[in-house]
Order: sequence, then C-alpha cells, then structure tokens
Amino acid sequence: MQLSSRVADLQASAVREMLSAAQRPGMISFAGGLPSPETFGTLTLPPAEVDVLQYGPSEGEPALREAIAQDLANLGLDCPAAQVLILSGSQQGIDLAAKLFVDAATPVAIQAPAYLAALQVFRFFGARFETLSDAQPGEGWMPGHAPSLAYVTPTFQNPTGQCWSADQRGAFAAACDRADVCLFEDDPYRDLAYDSCERRPVVADLRKASWIYQGSFSKTLAPGLRLGFLAASPDLFTHLVRLKQAADLHTNRLSQWIVLQHLLHPQRVSRLESLVSRYRQRRDDFAGLMHRYLGNGAVWAVPPGGLFFWATLPPGTDVDLLMKAAMKKGVLFTPGHHFYADRANAPPSMRLNFSHARPDQCELGLAILGDLIGQRVGAPAH
Ligand code: PMP
Repeated sequence: MQLSSRVADLQASAVREMLSAAQRPGMISFAGGLPSPETFGTLTLPPAEVDVLQYGPSEGEPALREAIAQDLANLGLDCPAAQVLILSGSQQGIDLAAKLFVDAATPVAIQAPAYLAALQVFRFFGARFETLSDAQPGEGWMPGHAPSLAYVTPTFQNPTGQCWSADQRGAFAAACDRADVCLFEDDPYRDLAYDSCERRPVVADLRKASWIYQGSFSKTLAPGLRLGFLAASPDLFTHLVRLKQAADLHTNRLSQWIVLQHLLHPQRVSRLESLVSRYRQRRDDFAGLMHRYLGNGAVWAVPPGGLFFWATLPPGTDVDLLMKAAMKKGVLFTPGHHFYADRANAPPSMRLNFSHARPDQCELGLAILGDLIGQRVGAPAH
C-alpha cells in the first residue's frame, strides 16, 4: 500500500490522545479546551423547517451570513455578508487557509507558543515556521523577504490566554501592509472576556494586505454543533469557497439553523453575560487554587479571558515526566512544548483548562499537581 508522502510524518494529535484519556472514569482533566457542559441547553428552540434537510449553499445560509456580517461590523470590521463563509468548526478555516497558502517549505509566521492544532495543520502541508517577536510582531519584515502567511490569535490566545495591546495590533497590521503578508486572525475566545482589554480585530486596521478573520460558536454555544465562520478579503474569498466545496460541500444546515436562532434570540446578550460571569468566577477560583497549590513551583499570569492558564516551570523540568506521573494519579494537563514549532527548545510549561473540571475536581487536581512538583517530579537534578 502506498500512502501519500504527506501522511508519512502525520503525528497523532496530542490533544485527541489526551481527550481520550480524559474519558476514563474519575480522570480530572485540565487538558482539553472543553466548555462547561452546564452552559449547554439554556437555549429553547422552535422546531426547524424541514427544508434544512436538503443540500444547501457552500457559502452557508444567507440569513446566518448576514447576522455574522452585522456582528463583524459592530467590531469595526466592515465586510459584506458576501465575504462571510460558514465553516464546519473554525478548525476547518485553518485547513482551508493552509490549502490555499502552504506548499512544501512555504514560510508561515506564528506566535510562540501557538495553537497546537494549527501547527499540526500547517506542518501537514509542509510549512516552514517563523516565530514572531512577542513585543513587536512583524518587526523587520521587508517586501519580498517576509512570510506568505501570518497566523495569530491576538485575543485571549490559546495557550497563554493573553491579549495584544492596541500598539502591538497597530504595528502588526502596518507590518503586514508594508511587507504584503496575508494576515490570518483566529478569534474563537473574544467573547469570553473577564477583564477589560483591547480586542479590536487586527484585520480591521489593514489598508492593503489580504486577510482572513475567523470566529467560532464552540466556546459560547456548543462545540458539538461544529459551527464557525470566516470572513476574507475579496481576492481570497472565491478560492476559499471552492476549497470548502471540495472539502464537504457545505456546513451542516441544522447546526447553522440552531446558531441563527441563537444570534436572533432576544436573550442573546443576557445569556452571554451570564456565561461570562460564570467563567469569570471559575477563573478567579482557579487562580486562588493555583496560588495555593502551585505557588512555590510555577509562574503564571492570570488570563484576562479565554479558557486557559499558562504556567512556566523551572528551567530543565521534564514536563512529560511530570505529565505521566500526574496521569497515574488521575490528573491531566497539556505539556507546553506541544504549542511550539520547535518543541526541543520549548521552555518547560503547561496549559491548564479551567472551564471543564468541576470545582471540587479543580481543587483535588491542583493539589495533586502541587504535590508532584513539591516532590520535584521531573525537576532537574541539582
Ligand atoms: N482556533 C483556536 C485558537 C482554538 O483554540 C480552537 C479550539 N480549541 C479552534 C480554532 C477550533 O475551534 P472549533 O473548530 O471548535 O471552532
């Protein structure tokens, strides 16, 4: 059997493997990015029209595209519904963008750390990664000497939970314009804002460069709907629709219908407010527990939004060893090196999700992690 050369170095997703370990009874998982199941099911819906069972347009349902374009206009991103494409989860947008831009050795700029499933897709198509400077992303790019695509999550980033400042956003948009780099902004966490911080889409400040901006309903509504969207500059849009068509014809129409009902629902705003205050409380409780149990062994900044804490461990810590020991004791987290293109040189770190585990599990899980770190599991020998 001869499989494609691309598959030869296809690595199993670390997150998928961990999500399957998380299914074991009694496991306390800080590993995935799962929303709290308590947040589902607060939406009552009228019955759907039978018409949604028919094939539909590849771009998505017109009314849903309209509603999303209106939301984008409210964020400062003026783009007509004709430039909105409904996705089968925003993960699909990463796949389509990679198909559009990436050949073997195509330079792609990313943050370090960056969303691991994006690294996986870009790597699959052969990307050569370039790391953006944190302080001045895009600094030093020159026309003809810059990456083809820059993939960034400037708002409540996965994994760090942090946001770019207004200055960083402005400088990055200017750098993409100057060097003609396509800016791909991934924004699935923007509504989960617990403290005030800059959230204006970076693509809204572009003057010339091509762009893709994408969002998701996974974190605010339900990930099982597999519903996301992208908006793109007109030069890219037709290509993206053709790639979408080739991938799956169109997104599930029942999910599109459910999301549209949610967007038009009179309690949409109050529902989001209560979701955010629930998660803010969880974040605060988790921050207190982190301080109590990991305070002597790890360093972190409280995230202003999103679903994750990102903690750094002392230099030389073997995070995989720590993870295996934690797993034996029934606790899962994601080792930080999975979020780096250059894993071998990644600083020791871990990503901890605070939205999924129950509060009593959070306390027990962090106490176990704190114990292991206190016993110097994975710590370098003196
Ligand atoms: N982008 C980022 C940064 C993410 O964290 C995720 C999900 N964890 C996705 C995209 C994909 O989300 P979905 O396909 O559920 O919309």
